[in-house]
Amino acid sequence: MAISKPTANGNTHAEVAPVELDASKVIINLADELKPLAAPETLKFGETKTDHMLIVHYDPVHGWGAPEIKPYGPLTLDPMSSCFQYCPNVFEGMKAYLGPNGEARLFRPMLNMERLVRSADRVALPPFDHNQLLILIKRLIQVDSRWIPGLPGYSLYIRPTIIGTRPALGVTASDSACIFVVLSPAGPYFSAGAKGISLLAVGESVRSWPGGTGGHKLGLNYAPGFQPQRIAAKQGYDQILWLLGDDEKVTEVGAMNFFLAAKRDDGDVDLITPPLDGTILPGLTRASTIALAQAHTTGRITLPGVPGSTKLHMHERPLTMSEIASLFDQGKVLEAFGVGTAVIVAPVGRIGWKGRDFVFPVYKEALGPIGKGMWNMITDIQTEKVEFDGWSVVCS
Ligand SMILES: *Cc1c(COP(=O)(O)O)cnc(C)c1O
Repeated sequence: MAISKPTANGNTHAEVAPVELDASKVIINLADELKPLAAPETLKFGETKTDHMLIVHYDPVHGWGAPEIKPYGPLTLDPMSSCFQYCPNVFEGMKAYLGPNGEARLFRPMLNMERLVRSADRVALPPFDHNQLLILIKRLIQVDSRWIPGLPGYSLYIRPTIIGTRPALGVTASDSACIFVVLSPAGPYFSAGAKGISLLAVGESVRSWPGGTGGHKLGLNYAPGFQPQRIAAKQGYDQILWLLGDDEKVTEVGAMNFFLAAKRDDGDVDLITPPLDGTILPGLTRASTIALAQAHTTGRITLPGVPGSTKLHMHERPLTMSEIASLFDQGKVLEAFGVGTAVIVAPVGRIGWKGRDFVFPVYKEALGPIGKGMWNMITDIQTEKVEFDGWSVVCS
């Protein structure tokens, strides 16, 4: 006998444990005809679609259904689905790279899966077994592995997404959901050009706030940034440097984590990034940059192009615009960069703040020695040219 009881969502359904996500139930329907591969140099970020996608549905009665890998194509959804109204939508951004023997590899994918679980929980989406999801993602990548471009700096971008699909207008948690994963081949993200990206420091509109959702990868965090971004573009800046609070703390640059390198009196370097206080997205690239800076300083690795004798003193602490201005006035600023999966490391060329433009030292390839060393080290680890703590994982 099935007993009905209210769930955490306030909805009522039979008291049968919902079926868990199970990768072994996957159904694979391959496309009859494969698309021609795009020429790598024509790739624009996130525009090319591969042959297949992964999709799996959850409803409160059946739980997670059989996952399906099928030809890439549109979704059909009830127009009342909660994803269109209240945005219980979460996503991840990861990449597949080719290893030394042509094998597909992922970079620290468990961190993406754990972050996806936290994001889904933040908007009360149904839980799922992230180990099973990772198995399914690896399977999808194997199916579409011919889409991983075999050129240095290229990769296959992976976008796991979960949307709420409760088909009713009540303002309540979505008790139904759909996970889908789509893939897009990507080239090196060098839109920065020789001068690095220009940033307008903005504090009137904020990306995140204490107690808010900025520390999670939720779709609803991004749309409110589009209009300020347009204003910055009209003033000739590439992206926004998001500030927070009366003391104008630096939080993030566009959708990347921010790092600043400053000269110390003892000849070493201070590397500063804002702390994970809930307003900062806990980036994998951020965590990797911190770990590699520390590994360089302890002598475990040497970042290419950075002398082993130059210690990088890593600080996760608040950094205000006035401190950056004062470091500039003292001539101590070396370089700044944004980090994230899409770009890996993007050099900052200048920051506009209160009518003044702070221009960073110019380097040959825009990235300064620390940013460039990080970029080289991270891409070498991603493609397993260098082994580091099992960060690069084979798709098998
Ligand atoms: C995704 C994202 C980042 C970077 O995270 P990675 O895991 O390094 O890709 C940084 N900031 C924001 C706001 C993001 O959405």
